[in-house]
Amino acid sequence: MATQTGKTRTLTGYMTELLEYPRYVIEREVDFTHCHYGGHYNAFIEECTNCRFGPACRWLDHNRTPSIEQASVEELSSALEGAVRFLRASNPHEAYCVCKTCQWLRRARHFRRSHLKTT
Ligand SMILES: [Zn+2]
Repeated sequence: MATQTGKTRTLTGYMTELLEYPRYVIEREVDFTHCHYGGHYNAFIEECTNCRFGPACRWLDHNRTPSIEQASVEELSSALEGAVRFLRASNPHEAYCVCKTCQWLRRARHFRRSHLKTT
């Protein structure tokens, strides 16, 4: 495909934009008040592994703006997977719910279906 580079750039751009909403939600939900590490997840610290915000914190640490701008489609797609998992777990809503989170989840699902090869 001749337009591969351009297409990939658009795709990552769209994904980065798509990840803004979960980042905002997760950042709001994670409480860093008692965090000794300033909200920076470290896989080698036991406190991080056992922290109840661990998975969300790890997600955030990987997907903050500076690191996400360099991310590949694969990285963004796994970030998207993680975000979908979080929002689904924290929001057991009705099938026809129209809240922002549910709208986002539908958008993400549609995107994955049409642009990513999900099994
Ligand atoms: Zn909802």
